[in-house]
Amino acid sequence: MEKIFSITVNSLDETNILAEKFANAIKGNGAFVCLYGDIGAGKTAFTKLVAKHLNVNEKVTSPSFVIINEYLSGDLPVYHFDLYRLEKEGVITILDELLEYSKPGVLTCVEWAEFSDIELPLDRIEIKIEYLDDTSRKFDFYAQGEAYKKLLEGLKN
Ligand code: ADP
Ligand code: MG
Repeated sequence: MEKIFSITVNSLDETNILAEKFANAIKGNGAFVCLYGDIGAGKTAFTKLVAKHLNVNEKVTSPSFVIINEYLSGDLPVYHFDLYRLEKEGVITILDELLEYSKPGVLTCVEWAEFSDIELPLDRIEIKIEYLDDTSRKFDFYAQGEAYKKLLEGLKN
């Protein structure tokens, strides 16, 4: 996992701008994205904003109680996982399913993938979000795989 860039945003509006850039960058091929950060960091908020810029017109809600939400109304299918309730042992049990969601042409966002002890065996983007204050967040973008490295390089500026 290689860190490609960091950015500090000072408002939800700035997160929205970042999400728009991200949505435009992945529109062609989709992406498999793991989001990390404490409760309230903004994993769900970022996913919601990306979905909005992919023209998802369904209401995007946190999948923390249902494990997965899917949205099919946008430019590409969006699958939003929250593995928190599965806890460590549970993540292994859905690994095969998770791998199926890493197919091209879809966006898969996974919150709380760190419950998995095992390294996910797939190319992916990781986004670490750190709470700085009420409205400020630090986003760190990591990539595994050449295509994702290139994609994130294009977002740097
Ligand atoms: P998580 O999914 O990481 O637990 P949520 O996305 O549910 O976190 O909650 C993040 C909260 O922080 C939301 O209420 C969101 O509106 C708020 N927030 C404030 N400023 C920002 C920002 N710059 N970026 C993301 N979220 C922000
Ligand atoms: Mg969440």
